[in-house]
Amino acid sequence: MASPQLHLVSPNKAAPRASARTRDSKPSAKVVSKKSKSLPFKHLLGIEDMEACDIRTILDRAEYYMRSGRHLKRCSEALKGINVINMFMENSTRTRVSFELAAKRLGAEVTSISVAHSSIRKGETLIDTAQTLRAMAADLLVVRHPHSGAVQLLAEKLDCHVINAGDGFHEHPTQALLDAATIRHRKGRLEGLKVAICGDVRHSRVARSNILLLQKMGAAVRIVAPPTLLPDQPSLHGVDVFTDMREGLSDCDIVMMLRLQTERMQGIFVPSIREYFHFYGLTHEKLACARSDALVMHPGPMNRGVEIDSILADDLGRNLVHDQVEKGVAVRMSCLELLSG
Ligand code: ASP
Ligand code: ASP
Repeated sequence: MASPQLHLVSPNKAAPRASARTRDSKPSAKVVSKKSKSLPFKHLLGIEDMEACDIRTILDRAEYYMRSGRHLKRCSEALKGINVINMFMENSTRTRVSFELAAKRLGAEVTSISVAHSSIRKGETLIDTAQTLRAMAADLLVVRHPHSGAVQLLAEKLDCHVINAGDGFHEHPTQALLDAATIRHRKGRLEGLKVAICGDVRHSRVARSNILLLQKMGAAVRIVAPPTLLPDQPSLHGVDVFTDMREGLSDCDIVMMLRLQTERMQGIFVPSIREYFHFYGLTHEKLACARSDALVMHPGPMNRGVEIDSILADDLGRNLVHDQVEKGVAVRMSCLELLSG
């Protein structure tokens, strides 16, 4: 799929900060003991526009929610009276459910809309969508869209806060934030860590958001991919590039695997799945090239026998995939609260 060139004025920079909190939404002192800070922008569209201090603010608040315990059905009323609409115009299970849980745990009113990919026609349809959403009086809109830049365009057209839940090849900021929260929780820091991002970097919004975030937080990022799946040169600034997986993993603290984004490929990028797995599939044997305490991550869904060996996929001593999903809810609670605060 080609990514359309949409108008990319940053609505974050132009718009003054607005609050989505309504009159009944005073947080209950009983359930939220510590007041959170707020963020100096209206929308969360990508990591690119964020400062390291904003990232730290989100991660710190997420840490607070991680400690509040996942068994609490509703651990705060910070979003009481807030109307959150999740609009997913591309397949998603975990991200959509994660945002739903996060918003509900904060006491928001939540509605999820899934729009079939085939019904999306660019341009006018997006503007129509914006008008419909305006009529639904959303205070906070979470959007996933197959076209890079579409979420930004919606943010320009709407008065409410907008969170990007993944747009085309562009960014998936809350995935990078939850990955950072997971790493920080396990390793105690991000700064100085060596992180290898491996696989289909070319078509991955997760890779792009993670590269930006990890660099801002002082980690050393390298990418490992076959030459056909490397991104274009300008996006590689400051990143070490490897086409040999064993060399690329050497001495790494974190190995992030990516799914082959076949739905975004136009043409043939790998000769065969078997060959891809042979050279780029992560196995315990290849992982032995990384540090002995290196941890494996994957944004999901994992393709066993394609980018990761099934035995390693199930090795929860090394593979943080479930941890990532769990931290995702806390990170999204943090983003929703801080943005609307
Ligand atoms: N695409 C995956 C899923 O739908 C993960 C995500 O939602 O981001 O499960
Ligand atoms: N779930 C992630 C995304 O939506 C990664 C993936 O689908 O491969 O981008």
